Amino acid sequence: MGTAPALIDPFGRAVTYIRVSVTDRCDFRCVYCMSEDMTFLPKRDLLTLEELDRLCTAFVDKGTRKIRITGGEPLVRRGIMTLFQSLSRHLDSGALDEITVTTNGSQLARYAKDLAACGVRRINVSLDTLDADKFRRITRWGDLKKVLEGIDAAQAAGLHVKLNAVALAGVNEDEFVPMIRWAHGRGIDITFIEVMPLGEIEGQRADQYLPLSKVRADLMDHFTLRDSSYQTGGPARYVTAEETGGRIGFITPLTHNFCESCNRVRLTCTGTLYMCLGQEDAADLRAPLRASESNDLLNAAIERAILRKPKGHDFIIDRTTRQPAVGRHMSVTGG
Ligand code: SAM
Ligand code: SF4
Repeated sequence: MGTAPALIDPFGRAVTYIRVSVTDRCDFRCVYCMSEDMTFLPKRDLLTLEELDRLCTAFVDKGTRKIRITGGEPLVRRGIMTLFQSLSRHLDSGALDEITVTTNGSQLARYAKDLAACGVRRINVSLDTLDADKFRRITRWGDLKKVLEGIDAAQAAGLHVKLNAVALAGVNEDEFVPMIRWAHGRGIDITFIEVMPLGEIEGQRADQYLPLSKVRADLMDHFTLRDSSYQTGGPARYVTAEETGGRIGFITPLTHNFCESCNRVRLTCTGTLYMCLGQEDAADLRAPLRASESNDLLNAAIERAILRKPKGHDFIIDRTTRQPAVGRHMSVTGG
């Protein structure tokens, strides 16, 4: 199969990567992501898995090379493996390079083998601490043991695991060195993420925010860090720790804006397309999807949306800015 020409945005960036939030629901309530008392979308508003497949396929036909399935917690959506199974045909045909997943790991012990069988090669598991009590405090509802079993199952199934940890001031900053040693000891890269001002939560963002420039400087007391040219197609910048040979990534939307190389858009489980994680503008793809069996209207809506992709986000976290940059939670747009 030939390579479809990519969608190009007004700033000349090729959009070849789509992140799909397949549900806004989750079995955790991480303190930086959700409020304890969340109102979720009524189930009737969700696109079916067949509709999500049709949307993803329309993007693949327009040059998308990589799909990340995320959420909410993607692996709690009922029947989700059928979406992986159906999308895997695009891997088989060569139209797609990669299908990946971002998960909290709670359901991995159950699904790791199935994911591997659907052609998934790499997964991101979010893990902010290795301390079971702290894990419970951060996730409110999570069980660390289950996540660790999930990581074991994923590695046993041959999946390449990467860890994502949100850097939280005064919460997990004392653990970064042992977490890096633990991850690298298992052949796992670890990426730290700056907390982003998305959605209303209990407490102050400014209290959670820990700049990764400081984290990186502190890590240099423990590791010799070498800049790495390694890229996964995401916004992380990597260094290699000489002592362990493993990689450490930094996702720094606040201290270093990475929008100039943005290659992605985000689709929600209701068929809303966000052209930027940090802006409110969105395009409805559900109406054109449902309007006819042909993809003509849908394709036109996708093309119009890409022409509105903004230059970048304007995240700020300080003590005078009380409003989140955007009102929706990360679990809506998908991390
Ligand atoms: N439930 C899955 C998980 O936790 O991996 C997938 C969705 S979650 C929204 C995706 C990623 O976003 C997670 O790594 C999470 O830590 C991160 N995240 C959530 N809210 C965030 C925020 N306000 N700032 C930075 N990262 C956030
Ligand atoms: Fe759920 Fe992921 Fe948000 Fe945590 S970060 S509440 S696991 S969606």
